[in-house]
Amino acid sequence: MNHSLEVKNLHVSIDGQAILKGFNLTVPKGEVHALMGPNGTGKSTLAKVMAGHEDYIVESGEVLLDGVNILGQEPDEISHAGLFLAFQYPMEIPGVSIANFIRAAKQARLPEGEEINAIEYYKELYAKMDALKMDRKFTARSLNEGFSGGEKKRCEILQMAMLDPKYCVMDETDSGLDIDALRIVSEGVNLMRSEDRAFLVITHYQRLLDYIVPDVVHVMFDGRIVHSGDKELAKELESKGYDWVKEAFATASA
Ligand code: ADP
Ligand code: MG
Repeated sequence: MNHSLEVKNLHVSIDGQAILKGFNLTVPKGEVHALMGPNGTGKSTLAKVMAGHEDYIVESGEVLLDGVNILGQEPDEISHAGLFLAFQYPMEIPGVSIANFIRAAKQARLPEGEEINAIEYYKELYAKMDALKMDRKFTARSLNEGFSGGEKKRCEILQMAMLDPKYCVMDETDSGLDIDALRIVSEGVNLMRSEDRAFLVITHYQRLLDYIVPDVVHVMFDGRIVHSGDKELAKELESKGYDWVKEAFATASA
């Protein structure tokens, strides 16, 4: 079996406008890949298409989890298949507590007739909250309602830790985080790094990659990856900016 998250020749449009234009990427289990690029280049579109967002039209291509195409599946099927997406702008769900939300998501993954053990569940929840330095009073609060940017992101990482996904895609998890929250969120991710899991960390800035050190860095421009390298590439982008990529890409495709 192919133990990776693979995107093959993905073409996606919205309102008749092409956004992803032959996007290719393979993230094998055990690795952390960073996807960087200027705003408007299609990074969030890629994340949303992977999660089964219905607004986007997939013209062609595949997204394979361990060799199985997930395009066309419902968001909950994709999640059950082992893909977790942490979004740039997490949704607020008034009236649903964090504890109940995560419990329902875990319950949905169990075979028919099997119940979550409440004692075990809270034991795990509190242990993971402690690791993320989250106050226990959070469990009773409605999901993301009135949360600060940092609290929302920490809450996403808690959900990710509790659901134990095989593949994690994080879209600009660093946006809106102060340095302390950034460190805590990164520590949470680093604790989850393992041979059985892969991460795709989408970020506009290099800063996050000081804490979550990637195995591979990809640069995206105009709907596809135009350059890949090691972690030094992120530092190069930081110092040279994205104009360098745009120029290199214009030369290459001229
Ligand atoms: P990034 O995350 O790299 O900043 P996005 O994927 O958010 O880029 O956006 C890529 C392009 O697709 C942009 O030009 C954006 O305006 C367009 N786009 C994204 N989502 C929509 C949408 N729901 N409707 C119309 N255009 C969209
Ligand atoms: Mg984005």
